[in-house]
Amino acid sequence: MSKPLDITIAGAGLAGSLLSILLARRGHRVTLVEARPDPRARGFIGGRSINLALSTRGIAALERAGLAKRVLEDAVPMPGRMLHEPDGGTVFQPYSKDPTDHLNSVSRGGLNITLLEAADEMENTTLLFDQRAVDVDLETTTLTTESPDGSRHAHRPDLLLGADGAYSAIRDALRTSDRFDYSQSYLEHGYKELHIPATDSGEFAMAPNALHIWPRGRNMMIALPNADRSFTCTIFWPYRGNDSFETIDTPERALAYFQRTYADAVPLMPTLGEDFASNPTSSLVTIRCSPWAKRRTLILGDAAHAIVPFYGQGMNAAFEDCALLDDALVGASSHDDLERAIARFATDRKPDADAIADLALHNFIEMRDHTASTLFLLRKKAEQRLHAWFPRRFTPLYNMVSFTTIPYADAVARARRQAAIIGAACLGLPVVLLVL
Ligand code: FAD
Repeated sequence: MSKPLDITIAGAGLAGSLLSILLARRGHRVTLVEARPDPRARGFIGGRSINLALSTRGIAALERAGLAKRVLEDAVPMPGRMLHEPDGGTVFQPYSKDPTDHLNSVSRGGLNITLLEAADEMENTTLLFDQRAVDVDLETTTLTTESPDGSRHAHRPDLLLGADGAYSAIRDALRTSDRFDYSQSYLEHGYKELHIPATDSGEFAMAPNALHIWPRGRNMMIALPNADRSFTCTIFWPYRGNDSFETIDTPERALAYFQRTYADAVPLMPTLGEDFASNPTSSLVTIRCSPWAKRRTLILGDAAHAIVPFYGQGMNAAFEDCALLDDALVGASSHDDLERAIARFATDRKPDADAIADLALHNFIEMRDHTASTLFLLRKKAEQRLHAWFPRRFTPLYNMVSFTTIPYADAVARARRQAAIIGAACLGLPVVLLVL
């Protein structure tokens, strides 16, 4: 076991709470500070369900904390996409030839509570809610937090970890330091969550074991199943222009647009008008920055690499960060060791974060435009067939990202090599035959 360290983590969201468990299991004294009140007191569960697709990388990190089984008990498996065509027809596309490969729809609030409960069970962990990180002194590794009454508290840990999400205060401190690269780019689309309840007889209103997609170009909708047999739908619409959040701005206009565009879903959405009016429209951002570490402060998860949600990998990547950092810290006992360990983690992990950020942006176009095309369906079928014939030589990129822990950048490089070989094989086959 490493020498016990004092570690403060800012942000008790998904990554922060999992990381606290992993580091406390190593024997470190962990303080987890969270800006919001304790969600267990408010009862996240029972509120609006917001769900996420959990896949192999996230599950591997949860396994390390001994929590995968508990989390998966409440998950709904999604072995494929269900495409909803404009005429109401549906087509199911399995994600993989391997029937054990599937995404898992989990409740964001429920998962956060499970992680916090497990963190609270650790003797060497202190959870502090209503404590907003407001300032960091990177030279002395001092974090200042503020309570709602304005009182401030200074934390001086051996190691400070910023898991405080896409609008991270810890990253702000890094940004104001010298030689910090930073870019943020908003998608022209925003999103809004809507609801399909269980039927009157308590059943799922659509096929439960699928990620439902209404691919309609600029105006895509998706729906993921919840354990309570409802679905959470998300519309991804442009903020401005034709058929945008700007022009479809009343429940009546929304209803008329839904009738024209996602007609088969409308009878399943009894509260569509109210939900459309009352649920917020939120933006989608990609954040890239470097270096993630300075002295004994490191950012991870969305704080270091917020990505758009179209590959379903933001949380999975954040969980994978936690597992990799857990490994990187083994044996680090002095402050110098810690500086070196987190700098190496940041350098090694950055290409993977960049790779998944690019893939997520690209997948938006694939989901909204291509999933319905015949060419796309044929390509996916051909890829899965090749995977079945040559399981060790050919793995489709989607499978490498979602169903393996191959580093993201390596998966992209391997997919390029596979594509080049297939291209060359197609072009070169007559030549090969001539040579033979
Ligand atoms: P967060 O979960 O955002 O946690 C950050 C925590 O820090 C919060 O609790 C916050 O209150 C706290 N905090 C913020 N500021 C401070 C401060 N100053 N001081 C103290 N605490 C602070 N990912 C997937 O893998 N699969 C999906 O299907 C998926 N779907 C998504 C759908 C949508 C619409 C969106 C927007 C994202 C989706 N994601 C998905 C991405 C996923 O939500 C994030 O990548 C994930 O939540 C990142 O975890 P995190 O712990 O880094 O940040």
